[in-house]
Formats: sequence, C-alpha cells, structure tokens
Amino acid sequence: MADEGYVKYSAEHREAPAVEAPHWAELNDARTKLHELGLVGVNSQGIGFGNVSVRVKGEEFLISGTATGAAPVLSLDEYCLVTSFNIGENSIVSCGPIRASAESMTHGAVYRAVPAANCVIHIHSRPIFDRMLRDRYPATPAEAEYGTPEIAEATGACAAAQEGGEGLIVLAGHDEGVIAFGASVGRTFALVEELYRVCP
Ligand SMILES: [Zn+2]
Repeated sequence: MADEGYVKYSAEHREAPAVEAPHWAELNDARTKLHELGLVGVNSQGIGFGNVSVRVKGEEFLISGTATGAAPVLSLDEYCLVTSFNIGENSIVSCGPIRASAESMTHGAVYRAVPAANCVIHIHSRPIFDRMLRDRYPATPAEAEYGTPEIAEATGACAAAQEGGEGLIVLAGHDEGVIAFGASVGRTFALVEELYRVCP
C-alpha cells in the first residue's frame, strides 16, 4: 500500500438518510446469498471483504458500505450512494448513512467503462481466484494493488474488453479478489454462482 507513487485514497462523504434505490432489495438479497456462500464476509483477522453495487443513474451507484462484511444480512442503512469519483486522483464523493470503501473506485471504473453494466459484485475466494488465474480469465496486472488507481483503471479496461456487457475479472494483484459485472443484479449473481459451482 505504501508503494512509491501510490495516490492515497480520499473520500468526501456527506451524512444523509438512506435512499432506497431501484433494485436495492434485489441487490441485498444477492448479497445475503453471497454471504451464505462465504464469498462476502470477514477473514480470520476480522477484516471484511467483498461488496456489491447497483447503478442508479449515469455513473452514480449504490454500494454496500465499508466494514459491513460481518453481518449476514444488511439493512438499507449499510449502503451508500457514490455520486462521483476520480480514478486518477483516487477520490470518491458519496452520501448516505455509511461511508464507501476504497474498493468503490473499482466498481465505478466498471460502470464508466461498460455503459450496459448495471451491477458489480466483488467477492473473495481462494479456490475461485486460483482457478481463474489458472484458466486465464481476464485479469488485472499482478502489480495493480488494492485501492490504487491502477487496479481501478485496469479493471475498467478489462471490463470494456469483454463482449455483451457482462463478465468476470480476476484481480491478480488483490489476493482472492474477483469482480463480476452484468446488465442486471440477477445476471451478475448468476455469473458468480456458476463460478462457485465449478470451484466451491
Ligand atoms: Zn477485495
């Protein structure tokens, strides 16, 4: 994280009541299932992993908030709205009852790169990660680390290179990290579920 040239993540957050965006309930149901599968949760050090988002309009998206991994089921108060982001400056503007994590930038990069994508799911899984690297799925460079503009830019480029407005990306420089995106919550969740079935 302290590499030379690393642009520190900065967030401008405004406390605001939760906004029930269209498809929020569907997104939250998918997130509950991902938690049951262990693809979103907390690691042995108590650090949360994985997050889900849905496009609201333009490049605005609703995303599960920072440090929410432990809870099996989230409420609307654990989501926030990212209203703008700047990948090069590694900065995010958000509002809601909870703050956005640094990984929100990667979600934003997908929405920017793929206009047809309306949902992004970020999971962590050792078997899925290893299998995707082995099977040469689209991957971000191993040098692109968590929370950097490089990983966001590379994820956007990887997403744009896939056909049909949906796909799967392995974040080679973010151990166990995988991104799925698609036109709808249902379709994006199905992509993750298919992966899970072949390497539980
Ligand atoms: Zn992650």
